[in-house]
Amino acid sequence: MQEFLSRLQRPLQSIVVLTGAGVSAESGIPTFRASDGLWENHSIEDVATPGGFKQDPNLVHEFYNQRREALLSHGIGPNQAHSALARFQSIFEDQYPGNFTLVTQNVDNLHERAGSLNVLHMHGELLKSRCYQTGSIFNQQKPLNVDSVCRCCRSLGNLRPHIVWFGELPLEIPKIENSLTTCDLFIAIGTSGLVYPAAGFYEQAKKCGAHTVEINLATTTSNFDTQLSGYASDLVPRFFSQLASFLGLAT
Ligand SMILES: [Zn+2]
Repeated sequence: MQEFLSRLQRPLQSIVVLTGAGVSAESGIPTFRASDGLWENHSIEDVATPGGFKQDPNLVHEFYNQRREALLSHGIGPNQAHSALARFQSIFEDQYPGNFTLVTQNVDNLHERAGSLNVLHMHGELLKSRCYQTGSIFNQQKPLNVDSVCRCCRSLGNLRPHIVWFGELPLEIPKIENSLTTCDLFIAIGTSGLVYPAAGFYEQAKKCGAHTVEINLATTTSNFDTQLSGYASDLVPRFFSQLASFLGLAT
């Protein structure tokens, strides 16, 4: 693992981290499996597309109500990978004149619960709702249904889960692209380096001369400069602790 450090150019102006399902899976959060196209026994078309919501909003609301309830249930919490990222961000921002950007594909709030700040949720957030009419975003801990009254327009049925469904554009892209243009170190964790968005972010970071790292249970045959295969909860704390000492940060 230490080998990548010798190839890093100091000083690091900007670090971009992208996390995916592999990080939350270790906290016990079941995720969509592309292999059978099912998410908790529901087809993606039914529960994760604008068309599915139009066809049966009750089913879609119920699906996300259950996911929300599971996320808030006792026993679900951030793991060592979430904690290590939050700790590193905190000491890096306190002691180092560079930028740290945390982008996640996950819709849970486990990064925030571990202490991370300014997380860019490119696929939305389970604990938020959005008004169809005005685009306003609200905190949403309670169940949502077709009779929920929107706080901005006072109408029934205008609220939807603040989740990016298939066929919709990811969020925060200008901010993410901006951080990638100055990126010196790009780290993808728990997401396949071969598929969008990791693959696209990899390309952009590479174009700007960044060193690229993939940390994943099964690393892919991608072009990342450094590939570490194993559990995020094991590798991420070790990786960031070594990076912190390389940068001379007091932990
Ligand atoms: Zn509204």
